[in-house]
Amino acid sequence: MEKRMHFEPLSNWLPAVAEPLLIAGPCGAESLDQLRTTAQGLKDLNKVSLFRAGVWKPRTRPNAFEGRGEEALKWLQEIQKEFGFKITLEVANAQHTELALKYGMDVLWIGARTTANPFSVQEIADVLKGVDIPVMVKNPIHADLQLWVGGIERIYNAGITKIAAIHRGFHFYGKTKYRNKPLWQLPIELRTLFPDLPIICDPSHISGNRELIPSVAQKALDLGMNGLMIESHSNPAVALSDAEQQLTPQQLNELIAKLVIRTQSSVDMLSSNKLDELRKIIDEIDDELINVLKKRQQIIEEIGVYKKDHNITIFQLDRWQEILRTRGQWADKIGLSRQHIEKICQLLHEESIRVQNDLMNN
Ligand code: PEP
Ligand code: MN
Repeated sequence: MEKRMHFEPLSNWLPAVAEPLLIAGPCGAESLDQLRTTAQGLKDLNKVSLFRAGVWKPRTRPNAFEGRGEEALKWLQEIQKEFGFKITLEVANAQHTELALKYGMDVLWIGARTTANPFSVQEIADVLKGVDIPVMVKNPIHADLQLWVGGIERIYNAGITKIAAIHRGFHFYGKTKYRNKPLWQLPIELRTLFPDLPIICDPSHISGNRELIPSVAQKALDLGMNGLMIESHSNPAVALSDAEQQLTPQQLNELIAKLVIRTQSSVDMLSSNKLDELRKIIDEIDDELINVLKKRQQIIEEIGVYKKDHNITIFQLDRWQEILRTRGQWADKIGLSRQHIEKICQLLHEESIRVQNDLMNN
């Protein structure tokens, strides 16, 4: 590292492209017909600069739709010709990369699982030596900034300067409302390291469902990201992968119309308001807290039913004393005020008694 890296702006890869760049297309290339209908819908919007489609799909479990492979590259060539779209697709190894080049694909991207594996990134980089093709590097599935940087460096060292990073969120153990937690701090740190590296946000894989996409996309624009990659399928209900998160071209159009694109002077990830950032984190924590409380309440209800069926009184003094004592100790151990936690337990207990009382009397 340590030699200064310089990256070309998006306008060098896609002349006359307006920022934010919009990349759209289905999660996977399923059939020529599906690609055509989707491409037509997207073409009509007149806002999409790059058509995406996965030809090899990295699936968590076997026997799911793994993409159509080389056959789909022929369909994508058709889309290039018929609609004049530039095409981007995921490559995960040397063979994918050779095939993508052979079929004249325009832009490559490295998927989250591949960025996590330096051997795979290196074999892709080796194939790309001396080739002039833009490459987008998704963040690795887990929140490791160095691994993301390493992926970018491997591609850069192959002589490629048309590089972008894609922020697609991070795997998070435990329940969150996102499929992949955004952890905005990481793309912000990346921008600090490489101020001229274009960063694109993929709200589809962060959200995992259609409902969250608008707020994630807006947040990315508010932070000054340079583009959005959004999955779009002519008929999401029958999509062979990521059905819940794909938008029809029409829905994509509505989303784009509602996004507020801020002027360049006000957009800068680096000067983004620290207080705002911290509040966003508090929002996420409170959201998790409420989800945990909901889970607790469900168990309280189950206990209520059990007590009713077995004729057990709702209030059990020993159990209540044990709760107060143990929670106080747990709080102490991690440096939280015991009194504070006892007060919260008191509130929770009152609510549990109320819920179980309602159950008894119904
Ligand atoms: C995709 O873009 O369809 C994809 C598989 O993404 P990721 O690598 O971010 O999971
Ligand atoms: Mn997908």
